Amino acid sequence: MEQDSLWFVRPKPLEDEILSSWIVRLAWAQGLKLESFCFRSWGRGAQVMSGDVDLFARHEILKTLQICTGASYEQVVNTTFQPLIGTLFYDLPKQSFTSWITFLGNRNRVNRDRGLSFCPDCLRQDITPYFRRTWRLAFVTTCLVHKKQLICCCPHCDAPVSIDRWDKSKNYMESGHPITHCQRCRKDRTIRSVGISVQDNILLNFQWLLERTLAYGWVNISGKPIDALLFFRGLLMIVNILLDRRKTDRLRIGFLELGKLTNLINEPTKKRRMESLPISLRSEIMQTLGWLFEDWPHRFIGLCKQQKFSSSYLFDQAKYNIADVPFWLWEPTYLYLHRRYYAPSNGEIDSAADYLLRTKGELKKGELAKILGVSWLNKKTLNRYASQFTTK
Ligand SMILES: [Zn+2]
Ligand SMILES: [Zn+2]
Repeated sequence: MEQDSLWFVRPKPLEDEILSSWIVRLAWAQGLKLESFCFRSWGRGAQVMSGDVDLFARHEILKTLQICTGASYEQVVNTTFQPLIGTLFYDLPKQSFTSWITFLGNRNRVNRDRGLSFCPDCLRQDITPYFRRTWRLAFVTTCLVHKKQLICCCPHCDAPVSIDRWDKSKNYMESGHPITHCQRCRKDRTIRSVGISVQDNILLNFQWLLERTLAYGWVNISGKPIDALLFFRGLLMIVNILLDRRKTDRLRIGFLELGKLTNLINEPTKKRRMESLPISLRSEIMQTLGWLFEDWPHRFIGLCKQQKFSSSYLFDQAKYNIADVPFWLWEPTYLYLHRRYYAPSNGEIDSAADYLLRTKGELKKGELAKILGVSWLNKKTLNRYASQFTTK
């Protein structure tokens, strides 16, 4: 198979099709096993489908696809996540997690993480079934066309989709197409009886808002236009707060009292990244975020205040620098939740010390701190009164 001329059979990527799905369809259309197709197109050891080709597609893979299928480079690159740099995340890391893109897990593990979801109704209605790039966005948990929750596993045998393994059992496939074929049980993934209907308009509306934000590059929140990248960055900080049990128990209790995040809180997961959570938990988180953003920032601030949750916890999420917190999130939290640091003046300390010596005849560190309304005395004060302190 030539690498610099058009292939005889060369279907183009379909609307919003993801790269791995397109490669599988190309191999299928040419009557080749996936492995043989990759070997003939990119040579031995190219390891095209090992790892996460949708995220980490090398330039030579895309270039060959462009030349040999006659698709435009834009069509080819749109099957990857590269066009979302600067809108959904700052950059694509060479490996590991990428913000907001579902994690496929380790290829060598039998039970890979269930990162590739799909809508069975969409696949069934497609003239040519294919996987959408949208289905790998961590905030996408429903199909907005069919108003059903996406699923990530075969409805017959519960196997996660391993698109790179589909042709291991293709001789026995029932569905007649590699995309709808389950690589483990060989049955059709798109049977009619699956997919939970989503009645929750908050969830559907919020997902629609986020998809629109990604498409347009900005979003209007409470009358203010916000750049998409900054919005998604701040949103992920809020998600991380919800997932960090060590610091946010009080806040989580507040959500629980409102009947939100019940599964996340009652069935704690060890997973700390939105991108690797099961779709049911991601859906619950998105529903909660949708509720918060129906009246931003009032519901969030109200809940934080009620649960005595200060802004310093939020800013801890930034990890490196307070400047990492986007302004749209920093402004209301700083304004309403910041507990100002109080440092008594020398005059205040002197008069408090005088008072204690006069009334009690001795000076104790703990009592001085208490009377000044601080949790503990700073080093300077401790040194200044070192000779006068009696016990602690
Ligand atoms: Zn659908
Ligand atoms: Zn199956």
